[in-house]
Amino acid sequence: MQILEGKAVAAKVLAEVKAGVAALSARTGVQPTLAVILVGEDPASQIYVRNKKRAADDVGIASRDFLFPAGCSQAELTETIRKINADPSVHGILLQLPLPKGLDESEALNAIAPAKDADGLHPVSLGNLLAGKPSMVPCTPAGCIEILDHYGIPLEGAEAVVVGRSRLVGKPLAQLLLARNATVTMCHTRTRDLPEHCRRADVLCVAAGRPRFITGDMVKEGAVVIDVGVNRLDTGKLAGDVDFDSASKRARAITPVPGGVGLMTVAMLMKNTLLAATRQLPPA
Ligand code: NAP
Repeated sequence: MQILEGKAVAAKVLAEVKAGVAALSARTGVQPTLAVILVGEDPASQIYVRNKKRAADDVGIASRDFLFPAGCSQAELTETIRKINADPSVHGILLQLPLPKGLDESEALNAIAPAKDADGLHPVSLGNLLAGKPSMVPCTPAGCIEILDHYGIPLEGAEAVVVGRSRLVGKPLAQLLLARNATVTMCHTRTRDLPEHCRRADVLCVAAGRPRFITGDMVKEGAVVIDVGVNRLDTGKLAGDVDFDSASKRARAITPVPGGVGLMTVAMLMKNTLLAATRQLPPA
């Protein structure tokens, strides 16, 4: 059984981004810049934002903070996003999700200029993905594919099952797998026999937000398992959506939590920011 190490793959992606940032900065004299918008004081979001800013710093991308109290209005948020859209010195925008209750995530995401949509969640980015012309690809699903590719997992013709259908993970991941000619099944809370679907999967991707709920008996012998879940247990420990101990006895390869997909999300955000900056700055 092979552990699919997100750490190694993320390090490779970040090294490529760092080289790309250096080349772009040398050519244009401009440092790629990411606007980081954080609303409220959710501790998990604060950690995610800190990690993203640290990664940006490591690869030479500047980050600029836009911090709002939880009680800020939709109009204030939209106004700030519009200003950043119009600021040529900012190339990418990260809106940390989830937003506090009372704010409409779709409305906020829709306000981001597609050219600066570093998270790939704007309808234009998602539409391009559906149309088979990916521009900015959502970071977490892109990271899952990067891991699969790095380890040479064949996708063409594979039975791929995605558990979860969120805009953030499940839906774009299913599209990416389909684009790679996998036969894709999407499962959700109304799926009639989830274990049966999971047991058919050559590649089982789980993004359900339920700690350890995919157990070994739901995994086909020899399957590849990508666990997107990040759940904080009462003990303070992190757990995936897959029960690693039982699933790893049947899988031929599996991502750990932590140390798997989570690290990829940050790396792919950096890759998208570099792509956005490259497109906005004058060509060589
Ligand atoms: P989400 O928006 O809550 O969506 C969860 C999806 O799972 C929904 O589509 C839901 O179905 C489905 N689901 C929930 N319980 C299920 C069940 N018992 N059986 C079948 N389907 C079920 O969550 P998300 O934002 O996609 O995130 C999913 C997980 O990934 C979370 O643990 C999150 O923390 C993690 N995550 C990790 C990263 C990372 O960087 N590693 C990034 C993003 C998210 P319905 O649509 O029918 O409700």
